[in-house]
Amino acid sequence: MAQALGSAPRQVYPKGSELSETGKTDFDGVIEMLTTLEIMRFNRKMAPRALASEIRPLGLLVKNKRGSVHYRPHGVVGAISPWNYPLTQPSILVVPALLAGNGIVLKPSEHTPLTALKMKEIYDDAGVPEGIFQIVIGGGETGRSLVESSGTDLIAFTGSVGVGRKIAISCAERLKPVILELGGKDPLIVLKDANLKRAAGAAVWSGFHNAGQTCISVERVYVEEAVAEDFTKLVTEMTDDVTTGDDRSISDFGSMTTETQFGKVSAMLDDARGKGATVLSGSESPRDGLFVRPTIVTDAEGGTELMKEEIFGPAIAISRVRDEDEAVAQANSMKFGLNASIFTRNKRKARRLASRVQAGNIVINDVETNYLCVDLPFGGTKNSGIGRLHGIEGLRSFSQIQSVVEDRFGLKKELWWFPVAGGTKKLFRALIRILYG
Ligand code: NAD
Repeated sequence: MAQALGSAPRQVYPKGSELSETGKTDFDGVIEMLTTLEIMRFNRKMAPRALASEIRPLGLLVKNKRGSVHYRPHGVVGAISPWNYPLTQPSILVVPALLAGNGIVLKPSEHTPLTALKMKEIYDDAGVPEGIFQIVIGGGETGRSLVESSGTDLIAFTGSVGVGRKIAISCAERLKPVILELGGKDPLIVLKDANLKRAAGAAVWSGFHNAGQTCISVERVYVEEAVAEDFTKLVTEMTDDVTTGDDRSISDFGSMTTETQFGKVSAMLDDARGKGATVLSGSESPRDGLFVRPTIVTDAEGGTELMKEEIFGPAIAISRVRDEDEAVAQANSMKFGLNASIFTRNKRKARRLASRVQAGNIVINDVETNYLCVDLPFGGTKNSGIGRLHGIEGLRSFSQIQSVVEDRFGLKKELWWFPVAGGTKKLFRALIRILYG
């Protein structure tokens, strides 16, 4: 179970490195680097196409005009990011914002400022014009100032639902556009015809990597009754082999990043246990440091904190369901709607269920891979967010859309300008009958 607090042995990593700020393992750091580079590559390649002006046809009536759509910068983007991926999370805001022609002021998490400062140094060295990309360091108050400032024209926020809501209210008061990428409590549905070994491996990896501190990690599993016992046995066996610890070159996942998060995870697991859930923990973890053992929870009631809120720690809750209808109903029963996974060998059934699950991103027979599929828009429904990152849509989120109408060939005067001729009035009436009658 969750261990006592102590000082995490992080001194083996250079001070100020991402690993020292977060407690990640080497490999979680590698995955983050790979993801960030793929996002940068995609945006660089796609920006000229996604943001190019387009000529549009103008419908049935206005044949003498030419219409075009243009993607203009907002101006200055105020970007606010969390601590769980201190390189990727700022990058998904900074890269498209800059490519769309904006200036940007980034406020990274107060828990991981050094990675963001290093990132800025690299951008400066690469020749980003002075002043275009700036960083402010601080906590919630600094973030609030950025949101309220008349100097920011768009707010791009990644973080918790609670803070996202405050930012949405503040932006609404100012009619300032806002992109919100918020928390999730992502379900994984296992139907009785699923490849159980693959589904179990997916749940275990997604639930535990990066110590469960991933917005799209699996936190809830709904498994059909008929295979629930076999599935849970597989997950338990696999969890026994997962390691956490201070040797970050060999452990499967590292420590929690903050004491607050460690305390929150421990309290939620205690609450579940106190309310009758079975809480099984995997391999031992070091006595010191912010380590939480990989944990499986079964029989957690709806009244537990674990079944109401994002835990953001290495714990997965497994629940049995009668059939696919109950699985969908349970998956949709929460306020969140970020990622969801569906495991079944029947592809048609999977696609059909995908249309019923309320989530911004669905992965069939897999978990989380959508985040690396950078052509696809990414974002949440319900309380998990507003707006999209990644894909063409993500680049356009950082643009204002402007349409322009101009003459192809000029008329002396438009037909509906004063004075309107009697013939024109008749013609317009006839057009309504002919074109839309
Ligand atoms: P958080 O909401 O506590 O903080 C996020 C950022 O907001 C930090 O930089 C913080 O300083 C700032 N902030 C706090 N109060 C503010 C205020 N009143 N006004 C403006 N800024 C304020 O979140 P966190 O603990 O850093 O990160 C974890 C959360 O982020 C989880 O809920 C996770 O699911 C979510 N997340 C979502 C995504 C996504 O893409 N949807 C990605 C990563 C993390």
